[in-house]
Amino acid sequence: MKKLQIPIWDRLYRPDRFLRDPKVKAIIKVQDTILEATRKFLHSKGFIELLVPVIAPVTDPGIRQAQFFEMQFYNQRARLVSSAILYKIASMIAFEKIYTIAINIRKEPINLENFDRTLSEFRQIDIEVKEASRKQIQRLSEDLIIHIIKSVKRENEEELKILGRDLRTPHKPFREYTFREAVEFAETFGYCIGPDGELSRDAEIALSKVHYDPFWILDYPKEVRGFYYKEKEDGTLLDMDLIFPEGFGEGASGGERELEPVKVVQRMRITGVEPSEYEWFLKVLESGITKCSGIGFGVERLTRWICGLESIVEAIPFPKLPGYLGV
Ligand code: ASP
Ligand code: MG
Repeated sequence: MKKLQIPIWDRLYRPDRFLRDPKVKAIIKVQDTILEATRKFLHSKGFIELLVPVIAPVTDPGIRQAQFFEMQFYNQRARLVSSAILYKIASMIAFEKIYTIAINIRKEPINLENFDRTLSEFRQIDIEVKEASRKQIQRLSEDLIIHIIKSVKRENEEELKILGRDLRTPHKPFREYTFREAVEFAETFGYCIGPDGELSRDAEIALSKVHYDPFWILDYPKEVRGFYYKEKEDGTLLDMDLIFPEGFGEGASGGERELEPVKVVQRMRITGVEPSEYEWFLKVLESGITKCSGIGFGVERLTRWICGLESIVEAIPFPKLPGYLGV
């Protein structure tokens, strides 16, 4: 493994130094505005905040190349939660609109290439709405992003100056591409689809670099995403990723949920997940939830884009980089 550069090392292990840095303080203040603006916006739309666990018997398997952290919970095997998705869907039994700012823990591969935007522990602004379509969640997300950016511009003028960040308010609706269109667009830059059927990281960044506003990629192939997204007749999913502009790349994923227990079990089998492990979740679905959609925004990725930061390490006070525990 290559040694990290000294400043990043300091940023991970020496809070006695980095907490004195005006740039670090400015970023944390902007992040505070992002969180406060998110809560205000969502409460004004009738959402309630739901607390979700960090230790669980099972967790979201749809995390692509990452793995879980396992732990012993007394005499039981447990996992650190990689996503709030199962709890968001379950909460639809009782509520119409929920959000949570959840801790997600993922054993991401140690890959220096990804250190600019991948943490092992990150926060996600997770939203779920009963009876909502994918489109409604897209429009809500656009309004949320615009509200956050306007709040930062209004409240953090000084911090943005320290960071040298000229932040632009995006226009809505954000541009949309289907996954196929995005692949074709990336091919014009010389990229081809990866062996895992995904747009490669470099292809996604190349697309991101030619946009000044965030944009959507819709309809991913079902093989590459979690079992909880609804499948359409053509075999693609009713899901979406939000890609941040200027080369910052993926910032959120979401979609309309598959809630039919028989179909969920089929999709679990296709994606190599053992349905019996998800018994509690299948019981929730059997009890009858008809329709819901949602999305999850990475808080640190949002902070990285808004502050214009090179590395995700700078976008959280006490970072946990894959392979580097920090403090
Ligand atoms: N599956 C997404 C994630 O946790 C969130 C969502 O679909 O709402 O990455
Ligand atoms: Mg995602």
